[in-house]
Amino acid sequence: MIIRSITAPNPGPFTLDGTRTYMLGETAVIDPGPAIDSHVEAIRAAMPRLRTILITHRHADHAPAAVPLKSATGARIIAPPGVFGAVDQRVDGGELIDVDGQSIEVIPTPGHTYEHVCYFSSDGDLFTGDTVLGAGTTTIFPPDGNMRDYVESLRRLRALNPRRIFPAHGPVREDAVALLDEYIAHRLEREQQVLNALRSGRKTIADLRALIYPDLSRELRAAAEFQVKAHLEKLAAERRVKRSDEQYELVTSITDQAG
Ligand SMILES: [Zn+2]
Repeated sequence: MIIRSITAPNPGPFTLDGTRTYMLGETAVIDPGPAIDSHVEAIRAAMPRLRTILITHRHADHAPAAVPLKSATGARIIAPPGVFGAVDQRVDGGELIDVDGQSIEVIPTPGHTYEHVCYFSSDGDLFTGDTVLGAGTTTIFPPDGNMRDYVESLRRLRALNPRRIFPAHGPVREDAVALLDEYIAHRLEREQQVLNALRSGRKTIADLRALIYPDLSRELRAAAEFQVKAHLEKLAAERRVKRSDEQYELVTSITDQAG
């Protein structure tokens, strides 16, 4: 299947050079993007036979163009729960969707948001939305985002042994498995930094952030603190960290003397 893309004119610190809308063959798009007129028109012009609109998650830089595209073309919208109302088919993982005779599997990937799904073609091409980006890392904002689910989702994607990754932001990656390994290693390294910072006596999210991300501009600090919080919540769910008020500390390991 021929895969083309159009990048929406919405560049920014989280969207990189903009949202990439992928066009699968002649009839399907993944992540139609923001409802910017010029972007919607570009998709319509490139896809005169559009039948299917697939959405990875509900964020405003991914889903809204589905509405004008559907009303202009009558295409069906396929999306996970949490995406606005006008959806023809809800998916949350395991479904197979036919696109021009090729099957696309829905892979559940909660983590960036609770409802996020990825799409995996029978050719081995993986469409990752915001779960894996072509450059840099994605953001996890709890409580919608969940680091424990996220790392598990990355491992699920790694187990698919994909050939190529088509991210919603940043370039296509031919080194799909190596990129997923790097993504998993990066999160585990950050987790280790959080553990080390707690061991050094830092207790609050702001203090942990200052140690782990020392040189951040002011506008990126809040996002970094959400990443620290996401790691702390993962560790708390695993009973490796405990929280009281706004302070976190390591759970002292219990030596198992009973054998
Ligand atoms: Zn997103």
